[in-house]
Amino acid sequence: MKILQVFSLISTLLATSEVPDLNIPNQIHLHSQDLHISNQIHSLRPLSGSCSHDIPGLSCSSWRLAVETNNIIGWTTVPEECENYVGNYMLGQHYRNDSKVVADVALAHAKSMNLTGDGKDIWVFDVDETTLSNVPYYASNGFGTTPYNSTLFNEWVKEGKAPALPESLKLYKNLLSLGIKVVFLTGRREHTRNSTATNLKEAGYHTWEKLILKNSTYYSEVEYKSNERKQLEENGYRIIGNMGDQWSDLLGTNAGIRTFKLPDPMYYVS
Ligand SMILES: [Mg+2]
Repeated sequence: MKILQVFSLISTLLATSEVPDLNIPNQIHLHSQDLHISNQIHSLRPLSGSCSHDIPGLSCSSWRLAVETNNIIGWTTVPEECENYVGNYMLGQHYRNDSKVVADVALAHAKSMNLTGDGKDIWVFDVDETTLSNVPYYASNGFGTTPYNSTLFNEWVKEGKAPALPESLKLYKNLLSLGIKVVFLTGRREHTRNSTATNLKEAGYHTWEKLILKNSTYYSEVEYKSNERKQLEENGYRIIGNMGDQWSDLLGTNAGIRTFKLPDPMYYVS
């Protein structure tokens, strides 16, 4: 019952909340004199923590940055004291804003490419926390503070109720309109093919060139995904972009012309 209530709330949030457009070039080109940083340095201190150790969420913020930059690796659970921080991040506007910046940069890259129109330009998307969001599941399971439970997670996958990450769905539609085909490359296992395909379609991803799921012969996510991307390229496809929430989606060989990392402070996949 609890998971249904949380799911309903999150689905509503994902469906209705709008992320304001960020004018990225202007943000990037702001000069320090425009910000009057020298005059603001003292007022900035409480926000950066140099004056106080009592700022809620600060250490979790640093932990999240280290996770996103792949400095902290191999972790199994979110620190317990960061459950509220990660929950607020994932359910609030911050996660959506961060995702929008990634999607906007990815689309700008796609538009900058000289596409051949021969049907061989593809975009590789991961599934979990990239195209589909498991936030309803993780909201009911401590936002990653409890160890991964494959039985529970597979039950959730089988339901096929994961909503789309709206920024990725918008990117997906824009890529299709540019003539780029989409390949979903996921660590989900082959036995979840039907529920994953149904879930993708119901979430708005109506078409794809390939949906590649994992069998049991690979040692690691990096090896598995590198090998699958290699096969795609050997079959004549050009990987215009490659997007995932885990570094293991993006590292290794045949990574694509550019890679794009979406945020995910809830779990780590090696
Ligand atoms: Mg993923």
